[in-house]
Amino acid sequence: MDTAPLYLEPRLAPRLAALLGAAPFLHALVDALGSPLNVLVPEQIAENAAGFRSVYRRHHLGGQVYFAHKANRSRSLVRRLTTADAAVDVASLGELQRALGAGFTADRIMATGPKDPAFLWLAARSGITVNADGPGELEALAALVRRYALPRPRVLLRLREFETSGPRTLSRRSRFGTSVKALGPLLDLLERHRDSLDPVGVGYHLDTTSPDEKAIALEGCLRAMDDLRSRGFQPRALDVGGGFGVGYLAHAAQWDRYTSELTAAVMGRRPPLTWGGHGYGLHAEGGTLRGALSLYPAHRPVAGAAYLDALLSQPARTLGRPLGTLLLESLYDLYTEPGRALADQCGLTLARVLEVRHQDAGPALVRLGMNANDVTLEDHGILVDPVLLPRNGGSTGPPEPAAVHLMGNLCLEADLITRRTVFLPRRPQPGDVLAFANTAGYCMDFGATRAQQQPVARAVAVHREGGEGTWRWCLDEEYWPVQEYGPINDPGGQS
Ligand SMILES: *Cc1c(COP(=O)(O)O)cnc(C)c1O
Repeated sequence: MDTAPLYLEPRLAPRLAALLGAAPFLHALVDALGSPLNVLVPEQIAENAAGFRSVYRRHHLGGQVYFAHKANRSRSLVRRLTTADAAVDVASLGELQRALGAGFTADRIMATGPKDPAFLWLAARSGITVNADGPGELEALAALVRRYALPRPRVLLRLREFETSGPRTLSRRSRFGTSVKALGPLLDLLERHRDSLDPVGVGYHLDTTSPDEKAIALEGCLRAMDDLRSRGFQPRALDVGGGFGVGYLAHAAQWDRYTSELTAAVMGRRPPLTWGGHGYGLHAEGGTLRGALSLYPAHRPVAGAAYLDALLSQPARTLGRPLGTLLLESLYDLYTEPGRALADQCGLTLARVLEVRHQDAGPALVRLGMNANDVTLEDHGILVDPVLLPRNGGSTGPPEPAAVHLMGNLCLEADLITRRTVFLPRRPQPGDVLAFANTAGYCMDFGATRAQQQPVARAVAVHREGGEGTWRWCLDEEYWPVQEYGPINDPGGQS
């Protein structure tokens, strides 16, 4: 039957699953702090960092795991990482100030992305590693170092446009970094500034899910390291960037079924599955399917630390042996910059159901106390169901699946939380809460605005006492990774 619900259930790690099981706690938070509300689980990011470190250990590699701060604005995740075996990647002056203020020391901070003069100055002044976007930035940095008599900063060269032995460029276009073809002039520049800059290595960041592209880039970086050495530098770190990905969905079968039903709907072979017949990149042209599905591969069996493991285990195309082995044999440190993957399972976004408007035909319209800028899953092409948390505990009658469209609180036709029809296990009612799970990576606060003077979500950090007990919360800005509530009466280790 083609009206059967098409669920896309979120993948939930034990912490997030337990939190969603504490519906009265989450309702109380929304009652107190309003809708929308972002809930962060700082313990999880430490566990994710440990997962990356265990892959380093398996490949006998040293180096750093830099959390790409831009994935999430909260203070609690970054503060929690100060006490983990992790570092932080900052992409703006504000993020650098946050990282320093959280307690990260310079040896555990790296600046990436394009940099303005103040950002570059504070980077150099505080002695963090600068991942340089190009020659202009290196010149500016060297000038700052000389003018203000700053210590010689560690710099990495961000490279792009790697090639295989053939003429075809296999890595995608990027506006960031310097083409490997221009490495020669970049090394000339470094030679001129030998006294002001300390080149510690090279790297890339590719916004792709393709392991082949990354393997080619990694191999290209190994060759660039040789070029640095031949100029008399002692490079020691290779940075493979971020982009390790997250699996958002619990069940591969639901994803496969959904995408084939979506195709059928676009072809007119079943009732529409989206608002206004939106096709997520697909459309029908005279009975033929055109376009390509522009969605995040929401079911990803290999993501996060496992993706890094697979990359390092992959044999190099020209150099033969596994990439991890090549790094090890060269005694290079491995730098990674995971954003989304470290934020995996680290939070959820709650919204109150304000109105449920039933229609004669088709899905009900459900208006939420949030707008499309507050939960940007759709912007990232991530299709995953929210979890319904009934206000009354869900005790009214047997569950009856309901098809709904989720509308935002802006007076704007386009303000849809998602353009697809969402199937919920029961009809929502005003006062219920919808929980969007796993939003901490880019989908929580990246695009939040004050459009129409609607509130921006507050953020809270939660933890479970003793790991299993009562849920506790504090405002995100009140969170520190210490458990003390008064003077510490510690004899100071004198036993
Ligand atoms: C955004 C970004 C990252 C993080 O990417 P993810 O896909 O979130 O892992 C890492 N490095 C750089 C330079 C970035 O711009």
